[in-house]
Amino acid sequence: MKKLLILPGDGIGPEIVAEAVRVLEALRERFGLALEWEQALVGGAAIDATGGPLPEETLKLAREADAVLLGAVGGYKWESLDISIRPEKGLLGLRAGLGLFANLRPALLYPQLASASTLKPEVVAGLDLMIVRELTGGIYFGQPRGIRTLEGGEREGFNTLVYRESEIERICRVAFEIAGKRGRRVCSVDKANVLECTELWREVATRTANDYPDVTLSHMYVDNAAMQLVRAPKQFDVMVTTNLFGDILSDCASMLTGSIGMLPSASLDAAGKGMYEPIHGSAPDIAGQDRANPLATILSVAMMLRYTLDAPCLADRVESAVDRVLDQGLRTPDIHTEGTREVGTRAMGEAVVAALEGSS
Ligand code: NAD
Repeated sequence: MKKLLILPGDGIGPEIVAEAVRVLEALRERFGLALEWEQALVGGAAIDATGGPLPEETLKLAREADAVLLGAVGGYKWESLDISIRPEKGLLGLRAGLGLFANLRPALLYPQLASASTLKPEVVAGLDLMIVRELTGGIYFGQPRGIRTLEGGEREGFNTLVYRESEIERICRVAFEIAGKRGRRVCSVDKANVLECTELWREVATRTANDYPDVTLSHMYVDNAAMQLVRAPKQFDVMVTTNLFGDILSDCASMLTGSIGMLPSASLDAAGKGMYEPIHGSAPDIAGQDRANPLATILSVAMMLRYTLDAPCLADRVESAVDRVLDQGLRTPDIHTEGTREVGTRAMGEAVVAALEGSS
């Protein structure tokens, strides 16, 4: 029996996670999924209950579990807190504490949503891109960092971009292996013309590629990559990049697919243990209104079934159920267009559960 830790978090987190749990319950009851789970606190909810965003108990349970399913953290209520104890720190602490160095962010356009994208349907139709983002290094963790006061009283903010060869190599290997099972192309994104750290990144990516002769490696500067993502996104198969660049590019890629509410993600350690979460945040502007799209979280469950629980058939079943629900014309407000039927968070989750039976 595998163990899952569920961390609903803040804002829309509890609402979207409830729908993912509904899907898990159906898989357990009707399709033999051998999984048990428990819930714990993270983010603002944990700050309110314990004073900190990542209680020891949560980290302990996360370490013991085979997988973690996270909703989202953060919200207006905690924005004035010191940055060191804000809800988002709980997330960074989990990623670092569990050694989750590889963040997989697929951007897949469901044909039914081609018109929900802000780009022309012919530019995005058929898009199937995987962004592999380094998650435990780079400028988000580099030391020294801070805000200091200079002589004369002016203040200066500073952060450090740092990557070791071994960190670059292991994330590139993840990208090459995934590409080997897809379109066999990896584009490594850097800023090697300006930043020495990513000059090393490019060198190590090139060296590592020699071990994967069936995969073609190309390189692109991040500014060009951002432009190419909106100009001609279908040119990409797998993109691999640093923590900061991946954060930005994957949000940009999410818009190609119509809504940030559609995109799941996986964060994996060296042994394949993973934390699964939608790429969006806690959307405090729509929290508690039954307006949040639960599909990114439900699709995160599918990634969990595939990458950690070794149940690819159930992953296919969940993804087909989402496809069927979109075929039925059901849409949460974020992806609603003329001629489709607007439904709330809960109704969307129920529809996916109902569609599980017929999908394979
Ligand atoms: P956000 O992703 O929460 O929201 C951006 C916009 O997208 C909002 O208009 C929101 O309503 C909409 N949106 C997001 N998810 C949606 C969904 N499932 N269905 C429908 N619409 C959705 O980003 P933000 O507004 O910049 O941040 C809000 C809070 O979330 C902040 O506290 C931020 O720090 C936090 N955050 C958390 C995570 C995380 O937990 N992984 C990631 C990003 C931001």
